Amino acid sequence: MDVSPKLVIGNWKMNGLREQTVQLATAVAEGACSLPDDVKLVICPPFTQLERVSDILETVGTDSKLQLGAQDCHTASSGAHTGEISADMLADVGVKYVLLGHSERRQNCGETDALIRRKVQAAEAAGLVPVVCIGETMAERQDGRAATVLASQIDGSLTDSFNGVLAYEPIWAIGSGVTPSRDELERTLFLLRGLLQSRLKMDDIRVPILYGGSVTPAQAPTIFSIGVLGGVLVGSASLDAKSFLRIAEAA
Ligand code: PEP
Repeated sequence: MDVSPKLVIGNWKMNGLREQTVQLATAVAEGACSLPDDVKLVICPPFTQLERVSDILETVGTDSKLQLGAQDCHTASSGAHTGEISADMLADVGVKYVLLGHSERRQNCGETDALIRRKVQAAEAAGLVPVVCIGETMAERQDGRAATVLASQIDGSLTDSFNGVLAYEPIWAIGSGVTPSRDELERTLFLLRGLLQSRLKMDDIRVPILYGGSVTPAQAPTIFSIGVLGGVLVGSASLDAKSFLRIAEAA
């Protein structure tokens, strides 16, 4: 089975002052226009740069080829939540996708599956595509508990009618330069498809499953040779327009 189009999402994390953001977003937007139809890009700048990047994408005219994503949202649509940003606010500045449950938020901000599920509901209500991140730690992998951890994250963080994107990001692969072998990744993707089928009670799963964790232009062709893969979520390499576009070219 070959999943198409492939989705290539760049997570810029807490990086990007004005000048660097304009340069990076402009270079990605211009490069995106010449990519084939079967690859779609999303870039997720920090909150402070969303409106600026939205304007750049509109000026370059990237349409659905390159869309805007955010890195988190609150569960409520508005109200007394100092320092928070709602899914409605994101939609209002042109955001189409939102990352939820990234391991850095699970670990550093104490986000639980139950909270992530409420954020998914908020994103869905605002018309955004939720990209739910799951993944096991190295200790869980070594103890043979990865499948149980992934099943529990899928059960707890997805809504019953989930129609977004799932990103498998083994925590040990994020920012480490280490990736699962092709065979190991393929096996995990099939496992995740089965878990999604039983969680969503569907035979034909349309939820794309992305891989994230130290994806570079050098490894991208091997990763994309797995037909069942729906795309990739890229951290560090998405901060360099050439690297990010080379990963997309390999899709
Ligand atoms: C991430 O944090 O989502 C990620 C995939 O990071 P990196 O590509 O830098 O490992």
